[in-house]
Amino acid sequence: MTNDWQDRTKAVHAGTRRSQYGEVSEAIFLTQGFVYETAEHAEARFLDSGPDEFIYARYGNPTVAMFEERIAALEGAEDAFATASGMAAVSGALTSMLKAGDHVVSARALFGSCLYVLEEVLTRFGVEVTFVDGTDLAQWEAAIRPDTQAVFFESVANPTLEVVDIESISKLAHAHGALVLVDNVFATPVFSRALQQGADVVIYSATKHMDGQGRALGGVILGTREFIRKTVEPYMKHTGGSMSPFTAWVMLKGLETMSLRVNAQADTALTLAEAIDGHDALVRTIYPGLAGHAQNALVQRQMGKGGTVLSLDLKGGKPAAFAFLNAIRVGVISNNLGDAKTILTHPATTTHQRLSDQQRADLGITEGLVRISVGLEDATDLKADILQALRVASEV
Ligand SMILES: *Cc1c(COP(=O)(O)O)cnc(C)c1O
Repeated sequence: MTNDWQDRTKAVHAGTRRSQYGEVSEAIFLTQGFVYETAEHAEARFLDSGPDEFIYARYGNPTVAMFEERIAALEGAEDAFATASGMAAVSGALTSMLKAGDHVVSARALFGSCLYVLEEVLTRFGVEVTFVDGTDLAQWEAAIRPDTQAVFFESVANPTLEVVDIESISKLAHAHGALVLVDNVFATPVFSRALQQGADVVIYSATKHMDGQGRALGGVILGTREFIRKTVEPYMKHTGGSMSPFTAWVMLKGLETMSLRVNAQADTALTLAEAIDGHDALVRTIYPGLAGHAQNALVQRQMGKGGTVLSLDLKGGKPAAFAFLNAIRVGVISNNLGDAKTILTHPATTTHQRLSDQQRADLGITEGLVRISVGLEDATDLKADILQALRVASEV
């Protein structure tokens, strides 16, 4: 049975539904609608459709169901709902469960669009949001109140890679009956099982490591069957953020190789971080897997490996960061992550440009900070490339 399988077996086989043709690779059911044999069948399906009965692709589709079942099996979740993007998952999970007058506590260091949803969208509908430093348990404890409905955070903060303690925050939240929603993108399902660590709801942008090759946008919300089917599904299927069958197929195929890719990327990230740590051109090298990372014990407990992203802070500020980026030959300058291609980003002028100087300073996003999403290239080539680019940057 699926539940007894190891992760790599689940990633390849869980959730497979074969058609009458017995195809090996999962079929793409590129259909919006489904035919009923009789008017009575149509009526019955709208009344109470069974587990393998579909009505309309916004409500569900066989290829999308395969993806949902596979990622749920992998994550050890009762159920999952697949969405059109990571942001459809984040906003859907929060909006489906909250109402005016509710209180939410959130970490401050968030992906820009997540910050927008919490700061600008939820508050516009009368939800009160308190922001805290995600790494400071005392701040969580002070902010969570008896009337707090939800806490939200990214388990590894972007781009400064602080790790947020899922188990401890879940205990604090559960003491007040609040639901814990974790955006687990940077940790990936390979390194962190947020549900087992205490979270109630886990959210992924499938755009990142699940696709892993930069092709499609997607997302997924995982949790109890009750939460997914009674709270999330009615909201998502009526507001339109469902995943397309083609995207689900891309993500299904991505899941098959995710653990191999992500482990290889994390191993290379550690090699690179160790090679440049202490380099003359750098203020610091930030990688959760480095022995010197301030939260090393938590990283080992919660993730095992340090993930696929590292950041470095160049002494020469923006001129040095730009010289470094422009000297890179193997990686590319872009803003996605989790790709097979190494991607380098200057957060201060791109992903976090919208923030004020003060907000960036509070989050540790300096002018010299460069984020590197490590790809599948040979570690020797990446190391040589980064070292030559650091030489160029140190001459600015
Ligand atoms: C990319 C990302 C998202 C949003 O995902 P999309 O698929 O781009 O909508 C949300 N949270 C984190 C941490 C991300 O990295």
